Amino acid sequence: MNTDVLIIGAGLVGTSTALQLAMRGCRCSVIDKDSPGRHASGANAGGLRQLNRDPAEIPLTVEAAKMWHNIANLVDSDCDARFPGQLRVAENQSDMHKLEQRAAMVRSMGYQHEEIIGQKELYQLVPALGPGCVGALICRGDGYARPYHALTAFRQKAETLGANFHSATEVHSITQEGDGWSVRTSQGTYNSAILVNCAGAWAGELAARMHEPVPLTPKALMLMVTDRLPHFVDPVMGAASRKLSFKQMQNGTLIIGGALVARLDFAKEQTDIDWQQLAASAKTVLDFFPQLKDVRIVRAWAGIEGFMPDNIPVISASQTAKNAYHAFGFSAHGLQLSPVIGRIMAQLILDGHAQLPIEPFNISRFN
Ligand SMILES: Cc1cc2nc3c(=O)[nH]c(=O)nc-3n(C[C@H](O)[C@H](O)[C@H](O)COP(=O)(O)OP(=O)(O)OC[C@H]3O[C@@H](n4cnc5c(N)ncnc54)[C@H](O)[C@@H]3O)c2cc1C
Repeated sequence: MNTDVLIIGAGLVGTSTALQLAMRGCRCSVIDKDSPGRHASGANAGGLRQLNRDPAEIPLTVEAAKMWHNIANLVDSDCDARFPGQLRVAENQSDMHKLEQRAAMVRSMGYQHEEIIGQKELYQLVPALGPGCVGALICRGDGYARPYHALTAFRQKAETLGANFHSATEVHSITQEGDGWSVRTSQGTYNSAILVNCAGAWAGELAARMHEPVPLTPKALMLMVTDRLPHFVDPVMGAASRKLSFKQMQNGTLIIGGALVARLDFAKEQTDIDWQQLAASAKTVLDFFPQLKDVRIVRAWAGIEGFMPDNIPVISASQTAKNAYHAFGFSAHGLQLSPVIGRIMAQLILDGHAQLPIEPFNISRFN
């Protein structure tokens, strides 16, 4: 099989990259050892969060938010995206001080998307919130989408424009031949001028095969979902100093997360839910919304994600090989960035540089 660009990994990052390359007339193939969206991109919480990003990510997240707000123009589907805002609630003055400092830092970078609100506005926005909170940091343009709908929309649009997707195609070896690449897989050999590593939690193994080792750690993140409840909260809820993250979806269910890590046997791709951690997380939700005490958790799951030591991704041309690129290590917040990452990767590959600042994400930062 010959192609111009071979993308390894059909999660949102690989799929978005394929879409943007196809939009620019480039012939590309996307291969996945499993199937599109089988891992983090299909298992995530759907959060579209600009709030509280690493400063290096702010230009990218703001641009990604603009793309999500017009996502139907890009992929012919709204991906069930909704934008009720996201909050980090302050429980005391010390929390409030921390949030004010954060808002000032964001403003000093020339961005306005994170704002402080006082107690009155907080309770107007979330009347169901338990008593005693003093204010919050808000990003009014934040929200959520349905991850698997989004992945499917991105893939279908990329296919319409000529990208090929091949499931059950696992990479066995990668060899540079001249300036191009020969990739042996479980379904035969792919020859490509350009290789793109979008392999999520497995990207560290592929980077090592390309003689470019990185300190990526695979972790299994857990989520749980409740019964359907009458509507009671609009914004996505977080807290300034506690692990709180939940949202009420349009169907009434609550998706509850907050950086909860399951046990993982990475070699077997087996995850084992840690119910004690989930119980602690549910207890935190009850501290903010005591009226939920009789609500039933109906399901919990875990998805495997790649984490970098500094919790920001690698978005980079290879520093050791010609015509190779990396986009991985999204450290639990890659869904929101995915539209802009595709655009950045297409620019890197086709133009030789990206329009947004990506130096902090260079793969060589770990040397
Ligand atoms: C539980 C959970 C909740 C999350 N919540 C949010 C959230 O609310 N908001 C947000 O922005 N982000 C969230 N994230 C993070 C987000 O889901 C990820 O950052 C994003 O999906 C990463 O996409 P990806 O394409 O890099 O990786 P993946 O979706 O994991 O895709 C990588 C693909 O590469 C394939 N692959 C790997 N190795 C090989 C190989 N050797 N050969 C062929 N194929 C290979 C895999 O099969 C996989 O399909 C969450 C993640 C998890 C797990």
